[in-house]
Amino acid sequence: GDGGHGGAGDVRRHQRGRAEHRRHTIANGVDFSMYGIVLDAGSSHTAMFIYKWPADKENDTGVVSEHSMCDVEGPGISSYSSDPPAAGKSLEHCLNQALRDVPKEKHAVTPLYLGATAGMRLLNIANLQASNAVLSTVTAMLKSYPFDFRGAKILSGEEEGVFGWVTANYLLENFIKRGWLGEWIQPKKKTLGAMDFGGASTQITFETRDTIEDPRNEVMLKLYGQPYKVYTHSFLCYGRDQVLKRLLSKLLQAESYQATVPNPCWPTGYRKSLSLSSIYDSPCTEKERPSLPLNTIITMAGTGNGSLCALHISKLFNFTTCSFSRCSFDGIFQPEVSGNFIAFSAFFYTVDFIQTVMERPVHLPKDLKDAAETICATSWSELLQKAPKLEKRLSDYCATSMFVYLLTTRGYNFNNHSFPNIAFQKKAGETSIGWALGYMLNLTNMIPAEEPASHKSMLY
Ligand code: AMP
Repeated sequence: GDGGHGGAGDVRRHQRGRAEHRRHTIANGVDFSMYGIVLDAGSSHTAMFIYKWPADKENDTGVVSEHSMCDVEGPGISSYSSDPPAAGKSLEHCLNQALRDVPKEKHAVTPLYLGATAGMRLLNIANLQASNAVLSTVTAMLKSYPFDFRGAKILSGEEEGVFGWVTANYLLENFIKRGWLGEWIQPKKKTLGAMDFGGASTQITFETRDTIEDPRNEVMLKLYGQPYKVYTHSFLCYGRDQVLKRLLSKLLQAESYQATVPNPCWPTGYRKSLSLSSIYDSPCTEKERPSLPLNTIITMAGTGNGSLCALHISKLFNFTTCSFSRCSFDGIFQPEVSGNFIAFSAFFYTVDFIQTVMERPVHLPKDLKDAAETICATSWSELLQKAPKLEKRLSDYCATSMFVYLLTTRGYNFNNHSFPNIAFQKKAGETSIGWALGYMLNLTNMIPAEEPASHKSMLY
């Protein structure tokens, strides 16, 4: 699996010895496996996941694993607003791979879903017609394949958060397990909180015993007969790409749109020209749009100043208003974080860069802050020397590291005691963590609300 770092040791220990059931799914040349396909249509790109499980074990936990995956070429489907048919066509290559990865005789019984997240939520706000057009072209493409297509839709932020949490806990077998005779194999285990940092939104989801003061943040789940009270919130415009746009907008405001704008979050020696439209083309920045024409080109030059960078990034959050007993930020209620967490997607990419490229461990909040400041202070040529393959994203690790530091500490209120309970990783065993698996498990009824009846009856 992927390098896991940080605390939450049991997250990683769980990953070995997970291939046993796979060996038994093909006997005498007959494949007893079932397959399911989910397309995760994110804001920055679409990924297709093919899952596989033994046909006779549907309702067990932890038995579904990732059979294969495919990264769709090009940007996310929400980027095709001016050419919707191209959104559908972009999926062809991966869907053709699915035809080969799933045995032919299973095609017709293989459920196929597409879920779109915050990129499409934003397009839906900005241009409803374009968002509908994109959804219908991808729907038409998916329908043209022999799989059991069950719909393409935009997930709510709540669904995205909760299904990510379900995925992580399902893979780690934290939900109660029933044995052969219907006996409880484990008492109710503690669940793992989930933090997802996507391209356009970020989600935090965890089980809590505290009162959830805003009902919009509460989800009651019943899984295998056990109740779970889960806190979740999705912050739209707090995904990595939108944060970077919002930061540029704040810098322009601060420098009153000079011809060359200093950027303390970029390394020294790095400069780039960009059009105002690339910053203000999103609902996340439109309220800050200047009265200049959007085709105006501005040049930004890195000044590599970590503390100034942090100051500008902190302006992306509102830490002052709260009408509850406590808030994370932007007036959103959040109970105290509790238990272990898994932080995936761009949380993982950011911390992985710090650990592998910068060669710095991240245990405490201060490690993250110091690492961010070091990245900010490293010149462009030095960064390029360290990680030439990452050129495309290299100028943004200062800002994203600083953002992850401020989000986790000042936003979510992780402290020296709780921060080490976060494991930054993107997989559990061989399976990617994200909302996709939990979404499929839910829609195919593979996680029963009640304890399976067949098991129950055996108790008597
Ligand atoms: P995803 O997890 O694919 O939804 O991506 C979330 C965000 O991470 C997007 O802004 C991606 O552009 C970004 N991203 C993807 N790969 C990397 C990487 N290796 N380093 C930094 N950011 C990344």
